[in-house]
Amino acid sequence: MNKRLTNKVTVITGAGSGIGRCSALLFAREGAVVVVNDLNEANGRAVVTEIQEAGGQALFVEADVSEAESVKTMVQTVMDEYGKIDVLFNNAGISNVGALHEVDVEQWDRIMNVNVKGVFLPCKFSLPFMMERYAGTIINMSSCVAEIGLARRAAYGATKGAVLALTKAMQVDYAPHGIRINALVPGTIMTPFVQNYLQNAYDDPQAAIASIKKRQLSGELGTPQDVAYAALFLASDESKFMMGSPLYIDGGATFGKDA
Ligand code: NAP
Repeated sequence: MNKRLTNKVTVITGAGSGIGRCSALLFAREGAVVVVNDLNEANGRAVVTEIQEAGGQALFVEADVSEAESVKTMVQTVMDEYGKIDVLFNNAGISNVGALHEVDVEQWDRIMNVNVKGVFLPCKFSLPFMMERYAGTIINMSSCVAEIGLARRAAYGATKGAVLALTKAMQVDYAPHGIRINALVPGTIMTPFVQNYLQNAYDDPQAAIASIKKRQLSGELGTPQDVAYAALFLASDESKFMMGSPLYIDGGATFGKDA
């Protein structure tokens, strides 16, 4: 059977959990060499072990995507080990729930650093190597919260809007270098990220989950697999005519309204 990412070196940030983890396992099954990045070493190494035990190739690289030196070292490690980066999937991100006046200045800085600078830095340090080879695909993780006004997501929405704008602007600059840059725009996907904010930011997590389900036409939350398959499409040459585009995987949350 033809695999879709045979021998493609793919770097996935925040791949120790949730959507990143699921994408790492899927990309490896499709023949990719997967660089599993995460802050959480135990989780990242567990993903690498799972890939290797299934016969795939993977390497764990611990790095904080919001720290320039850490990201520079990660990119250099990948280049020393494999000599190229075919796919960069900027997936790592953190959440924040609150209306703007409730957001601490430190929380604002933190989420901007991880969700926006954490996309800028891996791109900045990988692009020169992609440009040398006139090849590369970058996938940036946005969110449907960038497109719809969602209650108590001011800081988070601002970061994901920035990622979408960055994706479009970058594509213009790097199209002449043979590099494609697209964004994933998920709705609410059941992962540890969502489990945590349901527990920590809502008085009644069950009522919150019922209301989240209602705003998606699917009536259900998405799964990490739903997003991983979209990421696989963007990583593969099957999406070669997609450039600077958002890809929605949101159960209808962005464009649908049932009342
Ligand atoms: P997740 O399960 O929490 O996974 C995110 C991973 O990123 C975690 O392993 C986390 O490590 C890691 N991480 C956090 N900060 C990092 C940093 N500075 N450097 C490196 N790694 C870091 O979350 P998820 O739901 O899969 O979300 C993945 C991405 O999808 C995020 O960008 C999120 O905003 C986006 N997204 C999610 C949803 C959703 O509903 N789940 C919807 C739209 C978009 P720790 O565990 O140590 O924090």
